[in-house]
Amino acid sequence: TDHGIVVHETPPARVLLGPGARHRIPEEAERLGARRVLLVATGSAKAAADALADALGGRLAARFGRPVAHTPVGVTAEAMEVVREAAADAVVALGGGSAVGLAKALSARTGMPQLAVPTTYAGSEVTPVLGETENGVKTTRRDPALTPGTVVYDPELTLTLPAGLTRTSALNALAHAIEALWAPDASAFTDALATEAVDGILTALPEVLAEPSGPAGRVRLQESAWLAGLCLARTRMGLHHQLAHVLGGTFDLPHAELHALLLPHVLAFNLPAAPAADARLRRITGDDDPVAVVGRLARGHDGPTTLGALGVPRDGLRAVAERVTERPYPNPRAPETGALTRLLERAW
Ligand code: NAD
Repeated sequence: TDHGIVVHETPPARVLLGPGARHRIPEEAERLGARRVLLVATGSAKAAADALADALGGRLAARFGRPVAHTPVGVTAEAMEVVREAAADAVVALGGGSAVGLAKALSARTGMPQLAVPTTYAGSEVTPVLGETENGVKTTRRDPALTPGTVVYDPELTLTLPAGLTRTSALNALAHAIEALWAPDASAFTDALATEAVDGILTALPEVLAEPSGPAGRVRLQESAWLAGLCLARTRMGLHHQLAHVLGGTFDLPHAELHALLLPHVLAFNLPAAPAADARLRRITGDDDPVAVVGRLARGHDGPTTLGALGVPRDGLRAVAERVTERPYPNPRAPETGALTRLLERAW
């Protein structure tokens, strides 16, 4: 946007959305020309994975059922053995960001086409980003070729998500959309995505928590998470994601719970310096206090809701603040070590 000109590029991707969309996966695999599919599925979605394996029939070449968060390269090496033995020519990932991340890592090593079937709201399936860990160090690469070419969103696959993960994963998606509102490269296009995502999540999440099998709420929540994932893919993320990366990487914390508990604190920190995002959030929520709206949702989680409860040592907070201020991500309010340590103390 150097000279006021915004450039939008939309990578080609085919997205299917709606109840029962999973039944179209074999057809979509055929469309990709896949004859020997590797199915990567998270263990907790085993019933859905078994059904999908049956539906793929002769097209299924192998399964891998142990994706791990943050894509450790050792696990990817194990899965690569399966790819070679089975002579797989495409990968289908069923599960959360961990399964999708492993499929991206396999595709990066082989060029295999990917079909992602997300069952959480993390959004990785629409981003060109892959984070991998080796010896406890996380490195991230960004390449349009890493974005899955086909994504199948079936809200029925989210019915088995426990209430806790439904809430924290939806707040993870909300964080993508909120950071897009104050991003330096925000545009009318990303504002539109983010506005609908925020509205959808704040409306549908309480509905889904009150009635977990209510189909309308599940559809809207998943659609909103899709839009939020597109926000993550299309704007530069700020302080919230940087804190999640540094804390998650240093202390090996659960991704969705960490995002959920941080969000109200970062909102309170940033909104005074982000008047346009603040005005938009007030308009969407119809509430003068968007921080309180998000805070109520975050605190309602019946798992850990503080950094202390996640096991982060209090005396490690200042070092986290220092790491963030050394090379800050773009953020509406410049993070300064003292103020940031106080933010972390409150989250602790
Ligand atoms: P996850 O994939 O690890 O899943 C969290 C838990 O939910 C796991 O125990 C999993 O087995 C369970 N689960 C998933 N689907 C389920 C279902 N349908 N029913 C019951 N249980 C189910 O966590 P996540 O929050 O989805 O993703 C986090 C990972 O994804 C992290 O490694 C993160 O770095 C990565 N990520 C990457 C990007 C990107 O753009 N590259 C974006 C978001 C997240």
